Amino acid sequence: MTIERSLFLRSISNSDRETYLVRPEPTRYESPIREFLLPPEVEATLDKHQRRELLFLTRVVRRWGDLYALQESEDARFPFYPSGVTKKEILEASQTQPEILSPYTIIRLTGEGEFVAIPMHQFYKGIIEEKGVIRLIREAAGETGKGKNRDFKLQAYLRALARSMETGDFKASTRIWLEREDEPIVDAVIGFNDIYGDEFLGRKFSPWASAGVLDRQLTHDAQWFLNSFLGWWSQETGRAAPKVKMRVEHTRIQSGLAARYEWSGNSLPCQPEWRREIGSKFIIFEPSFKDKFREKLDSFRNFINPSKVLGITDGFIRLVALRKHTAHETGHSLIPGENYQSRLQHHTAWIKELYCDLLALTGYRQVRGISPRESEVAMAITLVDGYLDYEDRRKRPEYHKASTVLLNYCLEGGTIRVENGFFAWTDSQAVFRDIDSLLQIVEQFLRDGKIKGVQDLYNKYFEPTVYQHLITRGSFPKIEDTFLGPIPE
Ligand SMILES: [Zn+2]
Repeated sequence: MTIERSLFLRSISNSDRETYLVRPEPTRYESPIREFLLPPEVEATLDKHQRRELLFLTRVVRRWGDLYALQESEDARFPFYPSGVTKKEILEASQTQPEILSPYTIIRLTGEGEFVAIPMHQFYKGIIEEKGVIRLIREAAGETGKGKNRDFKLQAYLRALARSMETGDFKASTRIWLEREDEPIVDAVIGFNDIYGDEFLGRKFSPWASAGVLDRQLTHDAQWFLNSFLGWWSQETGRAAPKVKMRVEHTRIQSGLAARYEWSGNSLPCQPEWRREIGSKFIIFEPSFKDKFREKLDSFRNFINPSKVLGITDGFIRLVALRKHTAHETGHSLIPGENYQSRLQHHTAWIKELYCDLLALTGYRQVRGISPRESEVAMAITLVDGYLDYEDRRKRPEYHKASTVLLNYCLEGGTIRVENGFFAWTDSQAVFRDIDSLLQIVEQFLRDGKIKGVQDLYNKYFEPTVYQHLITRGSFPKIEDTFLGPIPE
């Protein structure tokens, strides 16, 4: 789909047209969209109103992707900050104008050279109108109130969402989205979320959207694990667990940032203070998750010592991968400390990812009703994910840093080895002891650590050469350098 430049121009107000016009050479005009077919048996469960509702929402999601297409550029500042501006200038101006750092504003310069923060719903007003976004959301809301499967809670959410598009108050619709206890059959996320699109300061949200149909069975299973995990956390810390919901869905469509990053899961809202106040929800985009899982399974069979996973079925690995994913995402709502962003600066993202992985594994080992064997498989999946993060290191550097530090920490402890191109270990209990001791270190950094300490940890353990030993079927540490006996069968 090609975006007309004129469309972009129409979306901006006349008074500031000259400053908006400055747009560096775009790299792509392609609107990122991923569409998936609903399984026929899932489609068959929908009545005609639900089908129409999904149809309207699919249309909105597709069009919402066009907002994202407008923001792709070579310049990391675009479209959130004026070209040529420095980070220092933005941060200084935010001292007197806090709105400059709001995730929901776009910063421009006036003719007088003053910064002005324009709310995103106003910045994109023209294109939102042009694409009929609000009208389509209201039409979907209308269908939601019809037929024997009508869902007034979903209707209230969609109406609030349409209002948010006009007022910019996205908290109001997010609150309604989160406050229901059950999960709607059809659901959609449409808005500005997640900071990955802001490569300049990591503050601004990008447009993305998704719509899909609930997978009742998997949602139920995953929610059980999630509740048990939170129960463990609560007992461990003596604190009340935050409200976290989850949804596994047969995703029909993703657009914008979600499609560009090919997400298989996402947790909303992104603001920690909103999470504390109104809770959060984690969505697993099932077709995307399954797609990635195939790759994961191949690597699992390729790189985990076969004697360690004898008799483990693909189905079991998938269940464990889903649970591990759930625990990791839940971890994002449990990160300790305040102001770590300003203390740990550019190290924050990977330290957070590492924390969530360590917490997920530690909890996995201790959740009631889970066998040690299952948590061992979760640990093995984490090692495999580390290899996949290495392959994807340019696309997702923060994951690569986190998993490499974790692996090297265990290699140094001697609890994990690479033998003839396979990950191997003798005593899984000992591996979990290493995981727990690294968790204590990382937790301390998040609570009150300084950047120096994190930098030292990074320098010591960020050593990706170990992945070469996997690929070349080598060993690390080199077998002749150690006193290990033959590989146990
Ligand atoms: Zn994460």
